[in-house]
Amino acid sequence: MRQIDTYIRQEFDATDHDEVCFPLMIPEDQFAKEKDHIKGFDSEVYWVTHAGLNELDVRLVVRPTSETAMYPMFALWIRSHQDLPLKTYQIVNTFRYETKQTRPFIRVREIHFFESHTCHVSEEDAQCQIEEDIEILERIAKKICLPYMLCIRTDWDKFPGAHYTVGIDTSMPNGRTLQMGSIHHYRTNFSIPYEITYEDENGEHKHVHQTTFGMSERLVGALIGVHGDDQGLVLPPGIAPYQCVLIPIISKKSTVDVMAAARETVKVLADAGIRVKLDDSDARPGNKYYEWEMKGVPLRLELGGRDIENGVVAFARRDTGEKGTIDAKDLVPGVKMLLDVISDDMLAKAEEVQRSRIAEIDSMEDIPQDKILRLGWCGCPECGHKFEDTTEFKILGFPYHPEPYSGKCIVCGKPVDKAAYAAHTM
Ligand code: ZN
Repeated sequence: MRQIDTYIRQEFDATDHDEVCFPLMIPEDQFAKEKDHIKGFDSEVYWVTHAGLNELDVRLVVRPTSETAMYPMFALWIRSHQDLPLKTYQIVNTFRYETKQTRPFIRVREIHFFESHTCHVSEEDAQCQIEEDIEILERIAKKICLPYMLCIRTDWDKFPGAHYTVGIDTSMPNGRTLQMGSIHHYRTNFSIPYEITYEDENGEHKHVHQTTFGMSERLVGALIGVHGDDQGLVLPPGIAPYQCVLIPIISKKSTVDVMAAARETVKVLADAGIRVKLDDSDARPGNKYYEWEMKGVPLRLELGGRDIENGVVAFARRDTGEKGTIDAKDLVPGVKMLLDVISDDMLAKAEEVQRSRIAEIDSMEDIPQDKILRLGWCGCPECGHKFEDTTEFKILGFPYHPEPYSGKCIVCGKPVDKAAYAAHTM
């Protein structure tokens, strides 16, 4: 998670977002200003009602997300169009009272949360921010080798208070989709109740248009699920805590100092910025292989007396099991190239699996239960609810980048020209 956070910070800093840190607890009167927002979160927030032995006059919400903590401050910070865009983000823990069965990384009550919040002069400017968010997401997803789908959520499934919500879903091995994050356009839905206004060039006061982008440790849940196998984790090189592990192969017959050579090799790699671990424990090599395989280290290096004599370092890839040797004199570029190839192959494989899980359907009968469904839907809520109630699938929405489609609404039969997606969700 720290590797992912570091990368997220790098991306958002590079796109002119300022990192902020807002309070954990939000007074009830601030929290309740946007009526859909409070309605949406009412049943899932934790309340602080007492301080010591005293009952509080104004109860405090433990943030489920930070709009209502930030926006009263945004109203003070923003005065003129010159203060815009305002682009901020924070990485903090948020709290939601999940009543469903909790699961590590997937459904938790204390959420390790990334959230960006931006304010803009117009709806179009806010829309450009969403385009930038999607470009950032593309780079993050590549780093963690995760394929994803972007769907505009149905009105009954969007974020409470949003104008529209883009869900970011990936496909898990059990056939269900996991929402890894979301991007929201708020228009002026929050800036009106929170009175976030600016003076434009003509001296007119206008409400800002806002967006948010949220992701959580579900990214870790997703990459464990998508890449893991029966031997354990398979971690993408971009965010693996250790990108490679070096295992010295000590033999009694050996005439060279294998351990000294191993230390030197690890130093060379670490100096080149590669996250590397030397396993110099007393365990047998076989046990070490097993342990590091389980922990998902992308690349295992082995160094024995014969390798040193031959001027090579042996390697084994975690993702494919492929083995080979690298010339010791080209060690750094060799390891870097292998890590890049592993990363590309992991993403390509996961994308192929995700594509294979999509099924086209044109009737509500005999629906494959372990697939993501691509279908015709006219977009009306009545047909949407009827489809969801009949099939127990959830409509993920229309793709953010519309996909041409020629067919009929699966419920009412009206001709439709863009595809929708549905799935069982985690
Ligand atoms: Zn319809």
